[in-house]
Amino acid sequence: MTHNLIVIGAGAAGMMAAITAARRGSKVLLMEKLPKIGAKLKATGGGRCNLTNTLSNDAFMECFGREGRFMRDALSACSHEVLQAFFSDLGVPTHAPDGYRIFPVSHSALCVVQALEQEMRRLHITVRCAEAVVALEQENGVICGVQTQHERYRADAVVVATGGLGYPQLGAEGDGYTLAQKLGHTIKQVYPAMMPLHTKERWVAQCRADTVAKAELTVNLKGSKKLRAAGDLIFTKNGIRGPVVLDFSRDITPLLQCYGEVPLHVNLVQGKSETELHEYFKKRRQEYGHYSTLELLQTVLPESISRELCSMSAVDPLLGWNRQEGRRRDMLVRLMAKMPLTVVGHDGFAKAMITRGGIALKEIDPRTMQSKIVRGLYFCGEVMDLDGPCGGYNLQWSFASGFVAGLMRG
Ligand SMILES: Cc1cc2nc3c(=O)[nH]c(=O)nc-3n(C[C@H](O)[C@H](O)[C@H](O)COP(=O)(O)OP(=O)(O)OC[C@H]3O[C@@H](n4cnc5c(N)ncnc54)[C@H](O)[C@@H]3O)c2cc1C
Repeated sequence: MTHNLIVIGAGAAGMMAAITAARRGSKVLLMEKLPKIGAKLKATGGGRCNLTNTLSNDAFMECFGREGRFMRDALSACSHEVLQAFFSDLGVPTHAPDGYRIFPVSHSALCVVQALEQEMRRLHITVRCAEAVVALEQENGVICGVQTQHERYRADAVVVATGGLGYPQLGAEGDGYTLAQKLGHTIKQVYPAMMPLHTKERWVAQCRADTVAKAELTVNLKGSKKLRAAGDLIFTKNGIRGPVVLDFSRDITPLLQCYGEVPLHVNLVQGKSETELHEYFKKRRQEYGHYSTLELLQTVLPESISRELCSMSAVDPLLGWNRQEGRRRDMLVRLMAKMPLTVVGHDGFAKAMITRGGIALKEIDPRTMQSKIVRGLYFCGEVMDLDGPCGGYNLQWSFASGFVAGLMRG
């Protein structure tokens, strides 16, 4: 049977493309290689699904770096307001409890997937699960169908919404790159992103599970010193994780590939300089003269980290601040403001929430998401060379690009 549209991948992007096309009267076939639809979507936001955020389109695009402008038309057509209205119409009202990140009011990713599934049923979209597309078919530069392990399906248009490479158990194994490459598309080098990082320093294991609020991380490499990030930092048995690390890992993995290790400076005290810290301790000392150095440090840092700092700077934690040797106090303060950490690895795509890189944007029309190489072939979602930080950016982009691809313009 010939369909107007075949969508490959039942994730956020693919389901949005399928629904958009079907609402406009197209006969749609949605192919999914896993036994069930929306596996990754169900896992988003720790099961709570951070759908999007309240930023304006301009501010949103800026967070994706230089390539962000590619999203202009898609976001104009499907901004966060449009997306919220879309879900509200499906019976999934949304809200922004912190004024920034937008979640379903139910805080349930499952509800989001169920609502999309119900809408696809209402629109008579044919959903075929447990069937992987292995090739795209084209004739004279025009798409004409797909080939799966079992069958050949014909269609006037095909949307590739196969995601990236992160969390492969949730379906994304990079198939879209191979499919697109065979038809002449370029794949920008892919890196795992948004994941914990491993460090050379072993002391971090002593501080695991303790959180440093609003830490500031800076890359200490010539030419990359402008790379910095701020946010909550958590130590692990072999490195660092937490919101600031998830975001920063996007910048670190390409450097790691290039240099083998990436030296960082970590400000553990919310950006305070050494001078400000000396001032701070001077004041506190007057106030809490009877405090040991360890107790004094604990006014700004968790105990485990305070102990490590004392040990690194050879300071006796039980002695008062005044009784420490000046050079040791200086060293301790320097470590608080500029703790050196060296990133030496990560868990790879197995733990990467996002893939950096993908199908080159220059070969895709940003107004339509159509391939500039094969007519009738569209892309949407993470399979393209665009990735954003934590905070609803990647789902918003997946839904917006899925919406535009589903319009099948051009
Ligand atoms: C644990 C986790 C939490 C996250 N939390 C958030 C969050 O809260 N907010 C946010 O904005 N982003 C979050 N992200 C990122 C976000 O989930 C992704 O960017 C987004 O889901 C990508 O959507 P997609 O439709 O492009 O790809 P996917 O959701 O990966 O969907 C691709 C689909 O294609 C299928 N497929 C692949 N190859 C084939 C093939 N050959 N044939 C048929 N089907 C195929 C896959 O099985 C899969 O179902 C999170 C990611 C992870 C891993």
